[in-house]
Amino acid sequence: MEQALIIVGQGIAGSILSLRLEERGIPFKLYDDPSHSKSSRIAAGLSNPVVLKRQKWVQAAELFLPEAQKAYPLWAGQLQKSFYHPINLEHIFHNEAEANDWLINSDKPHLKKHLGKHIKEALSNIISPYGRGKLEGVFWVDTDSFIKARREDLLNKGLLISKTWTADLMDKHPNSSIIYCNGHLARQTHPMLANAFSPTKGEVMIIKAEKLPEDRILHAGVFTLPLGDKRFKIGATYNHKDLSENTSEDGLSYLKAKLESFYQGPYEVLEQFAAVRPNIKDRKPLMGRLSEHEWLFNGMGSRGVLMAPYLSQHFLNHLLSGDALQAQWDLNRFTSA
Ligand SMILES: Cc1cc2nc3c(=O)[nH]c(=O)nc-3n(C[C@H](O)[C@H](O)[C@H](O)COP(=O)(O)OP(=O)(O)OC[C@H]3O[C@@H](n4cnc5c(N)ncnc54)[C@H](O)[C@@H]3O)c2cc1C
Repeated sequence: MEQALIIVGQGIAGSILSLRLEERGIPFKLYDDPSHSKSSRIAAGLSNPVVLKRQKWVQAAELFLPEAQKAYPLWAGQLQKSFYHPINLEHIFHNEAEANDWLINSDKPHLKKHLGKHIKEALSNIISPYGRGKLEGVFWVDTDSFIKARREDLLNKGLLISKTWTADLMDKHPNSSIIYCNGHLARQTHPMLANAFSPTKGEVMIIKAEKLPEDRILHAGVFTLPLGDKRFKIGATYNHKDLSENTSEDGLSYLKAKLESFYQGPYEVLEQFAAVRPNIKDRKPLMGRLSEHEWLFNGMGSRGVLMAPYLSQHFLNHLLSGDALQAQWDLNRFTSA
């Protein structure tokens, strides 16, 4: 490809795509105005290949996970920030049947590497009468720190234009290909795709809790992500109706109720955040060609951290070398009716 490349948006998708372009020695510029979407910056950043609620393998996670485990430590080294954190995760069973399912599912392909032992020992201040399932191979990325570090790096290299991209700017860049990594806002920039999205607002709260364990994430409807100094990120909510980035009383009540269903100690709410995830109706990524000069790399849904390292390579192999996109991820599935 001879044309100059412009990335629009520096969330998880745009940050990772920009790192991949740099790795390949391909010149680009990135436009980002962070005021449009906080999704990547408030995310919990968990990378988990299992849908815990249903004990199901995330589709294609066997491709996503090794690439993610390889890429983030490398980028953390390059950007000199420690944002990659392997961590223990324990899922609290709601009842005996769920614990039995865990045992059965832990024999299945893919799941057997991740559904670990059934922990029966009590944990102080935690209600878990049916025990907890240990999930193996989980890590989390401090996405705010990752994105800030990449932002600074891009600014230092003169590659970031810190302003809103508008369609009329295409006249200023007549020979460029534009890659939209604008998250759920693609519904507005490209109305022909509006129907593909099922955007989902998510809220999290940051709490201080003296009695929650800091050496693991606990999960039961919500997760408790230890941030250090007895602070935890608790999340998340899923709301398809209100698509603002405003925090809500309902969101807060939900998070508190879920937390209190298994945590018996005191806590104090320090902060609350809300943003909109770019979920797609069929829960699959969304990428490909929009028009002669426009491309899309999007649809990371609730699992951008896990998926974007692999998908960025897949997308660039298509854009730069003409390799076929997997049909199930190609945006054509929504536009060619
Ligand atoms: C509460 C919550 C918890 C989550 N937890 C997790 C988790 O644990 N693990 C996980 O993997 N994922 C999680 N996610 C999902 C994850 O955040 C998304 O997969 C990810 O944010 C998608 O990234 P993106 O880069 O596609 O979009 P976005 O994060 O929305 O980034 C888009 C960027 O483009 C900018 N932009 C948009 N339009 C323009 C324009 N015209 N000009 C310039 N800039 C523009 C925006 O301001 C933003 O910076 C969570 C999300 C939420 C809301």
